[in-house]
Amino acid sequence: MNCLQCGKSFRGRSDKKYCSLPCKNAHYRLRTDPHHEILKKVDAILHRNHAILSQLPWEDKKILTIPKIYLDTHGFNFDFHTGTFTNRHNQLFFYLYNFAWRPHPENKIWIMKK
Ligand SMILES: [Zn+2]
Repeated sequence: MNCLQCGKSFRGRSDKKYCSLPCKNAHYRLRTDPHHEILKKVDAILHRNHAILSQLPWEDKKILTIPKIYLDTHGFNFDFHTGTFTNRHNQLFFYLYNFAWRPHPENKIWIMKK
């Protein structure tokens, strides 16, 4: 099952909705505050994106190149990121919290973990 707050998959009782107490608290806090309704939707997408990148087989690597289809099938949303960066070779990178990614040839995505 997947956490209603961050979208991460977790094991537990079948009636459990959140992966952790902080996620449960965050969900209730947001639900009772109408100002957070819009933020919640974007946060959920960013958090799911982050969970997907975090769960890649990093081991002790800092850089991975993986097929785009892998991220697509896991529900990664390429339209949402936390910032951008253009290096001196005019390559555009997309930040997602502590990750940076950019399209790579052959339908792959290059990802760096900070
Ligand atoms: Zn969670």
